[in-house]
Amino acid sequence: MQDSQSSQQLSQAIAVASPLPRKSRQARVVWRNNVVTVGGDAPVRVQSMTNTDTVDAVETAIQVRQLAQAGSEMVRITVNTPEAAAAVPYIREQLDRMGEYVPLVGDFHYNGHRLLTDYPDCAQALSKYRINPGNVGKGDKKDKQFGQMIEIAAKYDKAVRIGVNWGSLDQEIMADLMDQNSRREKPWETRQVMYEALITSAISSAELARDIGLNPDNIILSCKVSGVQDLISVYRELARRCDYALHLGLTEAGMGTKGTVASTAALSVLLQEGIGDTIRVSLTPQPGEARTQEVVVASEILQALGLRVFVPSVTACPGCGRTTSTTFQELAKKIDDFLRGEMPVWRTQFPGVEAMKVAVMGCIVNGPGESKHADIGISLPGNGEAPAAPVFIDGEKALTLRGEHIAEEFQTLVLEYVQRRYGQKA
Ligand code: SF4
Repeated sequence: MQDSQSSQQLSQAIAVASPLPRKSRQARVVWRNNVVTVGGDAPVRVQSMTNTDTVDAVETAIQVRQLAQAGSEMVRITVNTPEAAAAVPYIREQLDRMGEYVPLVGDFHYNGHRLLTDYPDCAQALSKYRINPGNVGKGDKKDKQFGQMIEIAAKYDKAVRIGVNWGSLDQEIMADLMDQNSRREKPWETRQVMYEALITSAISSAELARDIGLNPDNIILSCKVSGVQDLISVYRELARRCDYALHLGLTEAGMGTKGTVASTAALSVLLQEGIGDTIRVSLTPQPGEARTQEVVVASEILQALGLRVFVPSVTACPGCGRTTSTTFQELAKKIDDFLRGEMPVWRTQFPGVEAMKVAVMGCIVNGPGESKHADIGISLPGNGEAPAAPVFIDGEKALTLRGEHIAEEFQTLVLEYVQRRYGQKA
């Protein structure tokens, strides 16, 4: 029995898991010479949104830059009043002056048709408009006001995200579908009607935008909900019914661990199935937490799935009874912070460094083995071990650190490794 099992295993290798390829159209979100492609064979993009008052152009530009430096490839800003629309070109100008060409996305609700018409400099300074079809107007004003925004997008050749959200779902579509549902022999669950309404709203708005003259390649769709299983259901069907690039995100994901885990769970399932071309993690910042945390989480999701590499990864063990000191936890944190802090400069100075693997391990059980798998790793001494920390470089034991300053010395070794391996050869 055992023999036949092992010969079966030998004749067929275990398949390597990887995300399915995506098949969407490719949109272009452009500012000057920075062309961010979304969809098709482009990498899955990371997006974020500011929480500053857009009227405060300086504060907003600073936060946009922080988000961009953390790895956000497009940054959305609220454009909700005439003052905010008037501030947009100044925000753009500030960013350009800093050499930060990240595309800006304008978030419009209720009055976007007026703002984009009355503030043409705003319309041009933005690289993409987010339009929520549930918030463009009611009755016969709905299509007219939606059309006004699409005409402006077509005129300036801007990308548009038609972003449906279950919190502001088009009530006319929902009422119509509920009515149809009540006449079904076996009515659907209300949530299934809601899925249908979200998808209908997104796709019918996209069709209208095309009829008005928007290039279909400039259309990106999203249908955001706050439940993990709801998001998976909606996007599977949305991807089946259209070939537009899709923006993924769990809306109102929540704070801290809850928001991070829920977003990761939902996005990972879909991304693994080849669904989703750009993502945002809508985290509520905890008191004192940087806005950039949402970019860190989004990047980590893509990196963990093997879809992108943004920052060198630090492999660290969880610690256990073999290591009761906090030394290795502190070292792992220090190295992680160091790598993230250096990345904005390293990205241009040391191409390829983002794929580097660093290991910080707590004892001899898995320490040397894991460190050998990394590009550079350290195995700290556990309880009862000699107070020595072997360092492994490219799979070989290179030296042993001892004494009070292991952390600083290891950090120096990492920096020297980066310079040696990824530095531009003259
Ligand atoms: S490497 Fe050592 S300290 Fe870390 S979890 Fe494993 S046994 Fe515990």
